Parts: sequence; structure tokens; C-alpha cells
Amino acid sequence: MNRLSVVAVVLLLILSSVSVSAKTLDIYFIDVEGGAATLIVTPLGESILVDSGFPGDRDAGRIARVARDVAHLTAIDHYITTHWHRDHVGGIAKLVELIPVKRFYDHGLPAAPAPDIVPDLVEAYKKTTQGQTKTLNAGEEIKLLNARPIPLVRLRVLAANGVVEGEPPRSPQIRTCNPDQKPMPGDKTDNANSIGFLLSFGRFRFFDGGDLTWNVENKLVCPRDLVGAVEVYQVDHHGADTSNNPSLVRALSPRVAIINNGARKAGEVKTFATLRAIPGIQDIYQLHRNVLTTANDNAPFTCIANDEENCRGEFIKLSVDELAKTFTVSIDSKQVSRKYLVGRVGRR
Ligand SMILES: [Zn+2]
Repeated sequence: MNRLSVVAVVLLLILSSVSVSAKTLDIYFIDVEGGAATLIVTPLGESILVDSGFPGDRDAGRIARVARDVAHLTAIDHYITTHWHRDHVGGIAKLVELIPVKRFYDHGLPAAPAPDIVPDLVEAYKKTTQGQTKTLNAGEEIKLLNARPIPLVRLRVLAANGVVEGEPPRSPQIRTCNPDQKPMPGDKTDNANSIGFLLSFGRFRFFDGGDLTWNVENKLVCPRDLVGAVEVYQVDHHGADTSNNPSLVRALSPRVAIINNGARKAGEVKTFATLRAIPGIQDIYQLHRNVLTTANDNAPFTCIANDEENCRGEFIKLSVDELAKTFTVSIDSKQVSRKYLVGRVGRR
């Protein structure tokens, strides 16, 4: 190689690494031991944190570390609480002491005390947000920054408060559409009220349904599929079997599924089998090995961020390239990284 081509290659490498790091869409699945904390950073550097793990220092610390040291953020632009359970809203009061959070979204404060919601955590949230929150309803979007020619980034809410897009408020959970669709008893917990949303970047599509359960999941695809196929599915409710209705999972038909389970929480057998049965699914990732089930009901070693219960809280990173044509899932602690294509011929 002559001197000129060496210079050209070096220049190309510099340019490509700059543009890739500057314009990718990144999603960090932060380990909060069976809670949820998903950090999205758009190509223009706008950040959205979805849930904040359990109360206490551990989860807020892990989120702040990934946000500051890995994603190089100085603040979080948007914070969504999918619902009021302690493994989702628990960390926010502590987190704002570690990194500023600019805007807060939720499905509305609980109207009355409920046995599954810790009142102190709702009070802590009210104090943290000073009442400056926005209630998200199904069908609404969080407006994100976009600039051409970068593919469009959109975040659209498809479910909130037990209602899916296009339904009037207080619509029933159970909707029978087809004979093989068996509803479960009505879910009275706040899981059913979770905010579920679709994030798209060009043709790349990601679904995060919080802890949505069986009946509301069914409404997302019955009688009409409101979601469509996605590249990546953050498996509902940490991979619990009371969620992950096969009707929804089949409609999502993900190429990659990511389960934010704990060592002894969720990531359950039926859900794992439902995911595995999806034609075209390439990999299932887990934040934790489920120590309660066998190796056969767990992802392979290279797709699990934390193998032991006593772990260091390793995260999973997903990065969509600047043209939204491919995406890469990496577990830095294991130095593994796999690339996948966006879209499938004849798929949508
Ligand atoms: Zn949860």
C-alpha cells in the first residue's frame, strides 16, 4: 500500500468512526436485577430513560453510570415511568441527585390507594417532579428532534391505562377476537396500565411494553394489529408468563428479543418457548441467567449479560447504524457483539 492510500484509509477510519458514533441510535438495557431501566439515545443525542429500577442507591447508581460514563450524557431529556410498581419508578428520586432529568411522563397518578402500589414511592415521584409531569395516552407521541438526512426517529404510545390506541377511556381489558385466543382473568394490578410504545428509526422498530399483561397485549393485535413486526422486542414484564401472549409475540415477530429479567425473577419457561417458536427470531438476550431453570430454558452464554446472582450489573447495548440498515447488540463485559439486518424481504 503506498503512502497516499494509507492516509486515505486512516482518514476513512477516522471519518467513519466519527459519523457512526455521532449518528447511531443507541439503546442500553441496564441491569436493575429484575426491574426495568432502558436508556435510549437518538442520533441527535436526545435521551429517553424508560423506568428507573428499584428504590435505593444500586439502580440509580447503575443508570447514572451508564448515562454519564458510557453514553456520555450530561442530562436525561425525557423520563417515562411505564407504571407505578417499585421496580419501575423506584429509582427516580435518587437518580435526579446523580444526573439532571428534564421532563417526566407517566400514565397518570393513581386515583386511589391500591395494594400493589407503594404510596411513599408515588409521593417521592411527586416531590421529584414538582407536579411537572405529562400524562401519556395511547396514540400520543413524544416529539423528538429530527434532522434530515438522518432517518426519522419517532416514539409513539400504543397502550396506556389499559387502553390501546383508538379505544375510548375505560374500555374493558378483555376482547375476544378469535377462538384460539383465551383471555386470562382481568388484571387488577397496575401492570395492565403500563405505557407501551413503539420507537422507530427509519425502518428499525423497537417495542417496549413495560409490564403489560395478557389481555391488554391481546388488544394490541386484535382485531387489528396496531404494532406490526419489529426488529427488537423488550420482552414484556421481564419475561413473565402472565404476559407475553403468543398473539402479540407472533405479531411482533422480532428478530431479536431482550429480556430484562433477574436471576430469580421472570424470564420464565413458557415465554422463552413462545419466543423461540417465532420463525425468523435470531437471538434472545437476557440481562440475567435464570438460575431457577435449566440451560435449555436460558439463552446461550454469549447472549446473557450476567451469569451469576452475585453480579456486577452488566448492561446490554444495542446500536442502530446511521442509515438504520443494520443494528448491533453487544455485551461489552463478554466482548461479544452481533450484527443484524433491519427489515426483511416481504415482511412488511
Ligand atoms: Zn416490573
